[in-house]
Amino acid sequence: MIKTKNLSKKYGDLVVLKDVTAEIRKGEVVTVIGPSGSGKSTFLRCLNLLETPSGGTIYINGVSLMDKSTNVAKIRQNMGMVFQSFNLYAHLTVLDNLTIGPVKLLGKSRSEAQAGAMDLLHLVGLAEKARNFPDELSGGQKQRVAIARCLAMQTEILLFDEPTSALDPTMVSEVLAVIRRLAREGMTMVIVTHEMEFARNISDRVFYMDEGIIYEEGTPQQVFENPQKEKTRAFINRIRSFTYHITSRNYDLYAMNAEIEAFCDKHMLTAQSCNYLISLAEEVLGLQSDFSDINISLSYSEKDGSLLFICESTCEECNVLEDCKREDDIGIKLIKSRCESIDYKYEHGKNILTLRVKGVSRGRGC
Ligand code: ADP
Ligand code: MG
Repeated sequence: MIKTKNLSKKYGDLVVLKDVTAEIRKGEVVTVIGPSGSGKSTFLRCLNLLETPSGGTIYINGVSLMDKSTNVAKIRQNMGMVFQSFNLYAHLTVLDNLTIGPVKLLGKSRSEAQAGAMDLLHLVGLAEKARNFPDELSGGQKQRVAIARCLAMQTEILLFDEPTSALDPTMVSEVLAVIRRLAREGMTMVIVTHEMEFARNISDRVFYMDEGIIYEEGTPQQVFENPQKEKTRAFINRIRSFTYHITSRNYDLYAMNAEIEAFCDKHMLTAQSCNYLISLAEEVLGLQSDFSDINISLSYSEKDGSLLFICESTCEECNVLEDCKREDDIGIKLIKSRCESIDYKYEHGKNILTLRVKGVSRGRGC
């Protein structure tokens, strides 16, 4: 349905897309992931010619968009784009946002367009908001209206550019649920997202973009569980876990705490969970005697909500939670009270303490 061949895009000297050759089949859901600035939005915007490519070709249903004789406007109508920032018409009601395109561009009568719009509002769960203005809706509701507006144009292809990244965490799931439903109904979709668990569940294929190309692609299982290339692996691992390396007793406590907060933020863990982790790190480090090589890592599973806190220290074999004879063991008690389970092993010269943290929950970030 969509095909690009050696698609390139430059801004002055900056080469953003080098050589993107890709194919998206009818009914397929492709998610695009990758570091910020890797050209994901540019790729999407080139597909519907919101940006003019510097080179290469784009085919939609076999028709080249670069061909002078192609009716580009008509083909573009067939591709809806959902932006991070909704882009609804603020001066029109929800219903009018959905009917203006079909009336003006598809030549529908007003009543026909309204009937269609109401069906779509039912589909995205917002029929009761038909007479409201965008300002009267939450972010999640606005984004669902934006999706319905694309559908009202009877598009066959939907392009999403980080549709949930401007939303309050509590509203992400309502938007993802609508996108999931469209996927089930066989809509062809290209979705740029940083919601990795969503990408893993919804995609037929995942494109990992880096260095101006589709650096690696495959099924979600291939890309997430078994990435073949180093950069993909690094990207996937970075989002999954967090590691802070300490090399001296005078480590930068504030920098470490800030990184723990950033990790919690990324995974939308509550402020309380974040405080737990910070105090856990402080207590575990307080028990150490050798600071020459310590790694603190966090690993959160979105699937089951479990969070592992791992402390690896290179020194003599010693389980700080059991082997230390201390008069004051408040720190140890605190650690134990905050963990569901504690594992210790000594491997390759490293003490590895794995704590499964209790009471971690998601909500607003910290
Ligand atoms: P992503 O969506 O992956 O974060 P973008 O496609 O937005 O990346 O941007 C890729 C690169 O292109 C960035 O370095 C960005 O600064 C640059 N860029 C994007 N749009 C423009 C523009 N209109 N003019 C100049 N540079 C741009
Ligand atoms: Mg972007």
